[in-house]
Amino acid sequence: MSLCEDPNQVVGHLGLEPLEASFTPEALHSALSRKSGRIKPVPLDQSVIAGLGNIYVDEVLWKIKVNPFTQADRLADKEIHHLHRAIQETLQEAIEKLGCDFGDGVVDGGMYRPRVYGRDGKKCSRCRDTITRLVVAQRGTHICPTCQPSPRGRRRSKQRQKRPVAPVK
Ligand SMILES: [Zn+2]
Repeated sequence: MSLCEDPNQVVGHLGLEPLEASFTPEALHSALSRKSGRIKPVPLDQSVIAGLGNIYVDEVLWKIKVNPFTQADRLADKEIHHLHRAIQETLQEAIEKLGCDFGDGVVDGGMYRPRVYGRDGKKCSRCRDTITRLVVAQRGTHICPTCQPSPRGRRRSKQRQKRPVAPVK
């Protein structure tokens, strides 16, 4: 924690603050459009979004049903809106619950129950498929293969507004 007259002296180099008014879908869109490569490491990059850790990025991507291998600059506008909202909701919930509770005795002090992070081998609460652990950009990553299908076949197109909803098994 730092005390200073101008917070920008300390945080000026950081990216968007997800719980502040300046974090808009448009700001997120412009930050993402400057990034190439997979979506997973982008929200973890503190110069893009400040304060979003590995756990919460997995949670957010599961929530919006986006595969972590999806190219950051290929998200549809609608997905960016979902991403924006999910980041805010997830962080808000984590703050309210004071951090994570992983169930199996692994607790970092809080009561936030991850839906995918650390739950490999367990059932997805949405579709009952089995959560899988992968490595994306050197980070342990947890997904539901049904809710977050592989991005293969995604085209670079702005017209993909209506992505079909993943089938429920
Ligand atoms: Zn699922």
